[in-house]
Amino acid sequence: MSERTFSIIKPDATRRNLTGKINAVIEDAGLRIVAQRRIRMNEAQAKKFYEVHAARPFYGELVEFMMSEPVVVQVLEGEGAVAKYREVMGATNPADAAPGTIRKLYAESVGENSVHGSDSQENAALEIAQFFTETDIVG
Ligand code: ATP
Ligand code: MG
Repeated sequence: MSERTFSIIKPDATRRNLTGKINAVIEDAGLRIVAQRRIRMNEAQAKKFYEVHAARPFYGELVEFMMSEPVVVQVLEGEGAVAKYREVMGATNPADAAPGTIRKLYAESVGENSVHGSDSQENAALEIAQFFTETDIVG
């Protein structure tokens, strides 16, 4: 069934001008970019977005990183989009990521790992709603 997931092209990737190359991997995987905006995240947005990791030792560093350069927030649509995009991104740590995945190709480290993708349909809906309204999304 066609579904939506939420994606972020993270600061390490925008800094290296990789937006187009990452979008090519996304589109080649059969996912459609149905909304996209380049923003600079403020502290409140970054903290809210990674709230689930608030107790983790890397939370402060993660929030600072997400605010350090512009990011590209996206809505992706396609068959099984949540699971498919997780597969296309590869493992959190690029050292463990499969060949051809975005993180294997481009990520710099476990923290600066180029992309975010929702981990469930429920979180996808919440994350999309944090950055987009329904009229922003053109399928
Ligand atoms: P994301 O949620 O960004 O799609 P993920 O689901 O693969 O990534 P999570 O476990 O949810 O991984 O971690 C969220 C983010 O926190 C990671 O993408 C990474 O940027 C950062 N992170 C995770 N583990 C570490 C770590 N050990 N050190 C530093 N940063 C980390
Ligand atoms: Mg996650």
